[in-house]
Amino acid sequence: MSVKHFPLDRERLEALAEKYQTPFYVYDEGAIRENARAIQRAFAMLPGYKEHFAVKALPNPFILKILAEEGLGADCSSLPELLLADMAGIKGEAIMFSSNETPSAEFRKARELGAVINLDDLSHIEFLERAAGIPDLISCRYNPGPLKEGNAIIGKPEEAKFGFTREQLFDGYRLLKQKGARRFGLHTMVASNELGLEYHIETARMLFDLALEIFSRTGLRIEFVNLGGGVGIPYRPDEEGIKWEDLAGGVKKAYDEKIKGGPLDPLCIHSEYGRPITGPYGWLVSRAVHRKGIYREYIGLDSCMADLMRPALYGAYHHITIAGRENEEASKTYDVVGSLCENNDKFAVRRKLPEIRTGEKDGDLVIIHDAGAHGRAMGFNYNGKLRCGELLLRPDASVVEIRRKETAGDYFATLDLEGLKDFIL
Ligand SMILES: *Cc1c(COP(=O)(O)O)cnc(C)c1O
Repeated sequence: MSVKHFPLDRERLEALAEKYQTPFYVYDEGAIRENARAIQRAFAMLPGYKEHFAVKALPNPFILKILAEEGLGADCSSLPELLLADMAGIKGEAIMFSSNETPSAEFRKARELGAVINLDDLSHIEFLERAAGIPDLISCRYNPGPLKEGNAIIGKPEEAKFGFTREQLFDGYRLLKQKGARRFGLHTMVASNELGLEYHIETARMLFDLALEIFSRTGLRIEFVNLGGGVGIPYRPDEEGIKWEDLAGGVKKAYDEKIKGGPLDPLCIHSEYGRPITGPYGWLVSRAVHRKGIYREYIGLDSCMADLMRPALYGAYHHITIAGRENEEASKTYDVVGSLCENNDKFAVRRKLPEIRTGEKDGDLVIIHDAGAHGRAMGFNYNGKLRCGELLLRPDASVVEIRRKETAGDYFATLDLEGLKDFIL
């Protein structure tokens, strides 16, 4: 069981809705800080542990700055993500650059910032050499293919476009050494939103074995293994999350079996979790504006899948509560939907909820839980939808706006409207 909590009472939330207009995201800084401390406390028993927060999960520099202050680095995969990490004061090897199909300009920027470049393919060694030169420290991404089972979101490793095959890795490290690299890391990312503890411990085991084999076959000493991301969160109240202590404990046990006292000891452990770092501590708040009863009962929100795509994209479950009415009986069955002209724009299908009041001013405030990772970040502007803003609940209980909502002006900003006036048909 996971308890679904929201840190603001209804009165406070109404006041925020008055000031900022729904929809908006709320993030809980205190809870994010506490979680960042908890993961590092748990993993402190492993050598050189470093978590590089996956920027794509919540690409807001205010959040990155908070995480950086707690000692986390950043995992980036595009030029703007590198700039975000830099803005937040995350520097040098605290940045992991795990990109794929990478343009040279991005490799150059990563080099300029001193980020750890994590190569996605054997052919990228020469590409990187031409684009930016081979750095001292370099990492390679391993795709175990049929040797590792996949999961629903990321699919089977053998069907995934990412990483080197096993055999390519040995050649890759040899070539990198020939071209001047001196320090080496090994990375993998094989699952997404995986709640099985054993799965993640198995991943660590697999990397430890591989690092040892790389040593015995090439003589090269891997200095860190990066376990990637993919640790799931309990989106459904009846699911159980992974506890950091259990995960760290399992990895430590594997470390002691395979690495301790051997030629690679101490081998640093890195990760690039996104979802479990901020996911449970962000909520999308919308107002219930419309109700319609046709073949089913619909509640129409003032947000839509442009603000949170996961339900439409993956059929993902996000828990929903109604502000101030958390303890009321779920006597109704609704489809809770957004305003986009696509029929998959549904935050919940056939969900049991208390009877919801609707109205532009006095409708209920609907809270969508576990939206703090891969939430607003995935938004888009299809159908002329403008993405909502982001609020931060500070540890002193004040609230600051850390991203305003988009305006029509933002939507038109890339058009040459002056040129349109002079455009001759
Ligand atoms: C998306 C991604 C992550 C983070 O995944 P989560 O599921 O959010 O933990 C980490 N590393 C890479 C390479 C990714 O693409």
